[in-house]
Amino acid sequence: MPERLTIIKLGGSLITDKSKPYTLREEQLKLITQEIAEVIGPCIIVHGVGSFGHVPVIERKLYEGYKGPEQLPGLSQTMVEVFELRMAVSKAVAEAGLAPVVFLPSNIFFMTEGEITGHFSGGLRQYLDLGMTLLVGGDMCADSQRGFSVCSGDKVVQLLSRLLGPRDVIFATDVAGIYTADPKLDPKAELIPHISLAKIDEYEKLADEAATPDITKGMRGKLEEIKRFESILKSGAEVAILGMTESGILRRYMNGDPDVPCTRITL
Ligand code: ADP
Repeated sequence: MPERLTIIKLGGSLITDKSKPYTLREEQLKLITQEIAEVIGPCIIVHGVGSFGHVPVIERKLYEGYKGPEQLPGLSQTMVEVFELRMAVSKAVAEAGLAPVVFLPSNIFFMTEGEITGHFSGGLRQYLDLGMTLLVGGDMCADSQRGFSVCSGDKVVQLLSRLLGPRDVIFATDVAGIYTADPKLDPKAELIPHISLAKIDEYEKLADEAATPDITKGMRGKLEEIKRFESILKSGAEVAILGMTESGILRRYMNGDPDVPCTRITL
């Protein structure tokens, strides 16, 4: 395992254009993966599925779970479409000089009522030990109650953090962190530099569900997952939400710059 294990989540809004179905932000993905390779090295990269996943899941009503066999071709098709994004991210990570190995949540996790309740994850550590970079994106997982459920990248981060005990957990997205209001809609919104878990409920109200299609509830969904980070923070992990549309922010953050714009999550 790397000495300082980092889990970095690349938001769907960062690597895809959420307002345009199946649209990759190719150049941005390249810059981001290069910065990760330079600043972090081998690590765990979790990614959202953005417009490769949310659009078909909404169109095919897959978020409702299993309703009948007529849904199954659409479920498979959605998985195939998201594969295109996995391939693109995997290629970018490899071109940046890391050695990615792709894990599919649908193969290693299972869910109950939309929450991950089990896993077959023995291989994760071993690949990390080899020096590879784990790549895990959002997916549709078997669900004992609903048939299948959406498994968001944010849920994957939460589970992998509990399993593997990272030193850093970074949610990279297309805004600098959590603001007093959605910064894309309100120019007066201010960045909140620190949020304590005890007060996270107050901030959840500030985070609107995304205006663009997002069945994982946008920034609010992210905060719902971060609420469960108590044991992860108690183990000494540093957790933050930061923007990666500009290069240099990740470098400053990892180098310990106290003034880098971001939202740090504390106990
Ligand atoms: P990602 O796909 O990167 O994981 P989301 O799209 O789910 O992220 O959430 C990020 C989006 O949430 C931002 O692009 C922003 O427009 C929106 N948002 C809504 N409310 C807030 C807020 N209070 N602070 C920051 N972003 C917010």
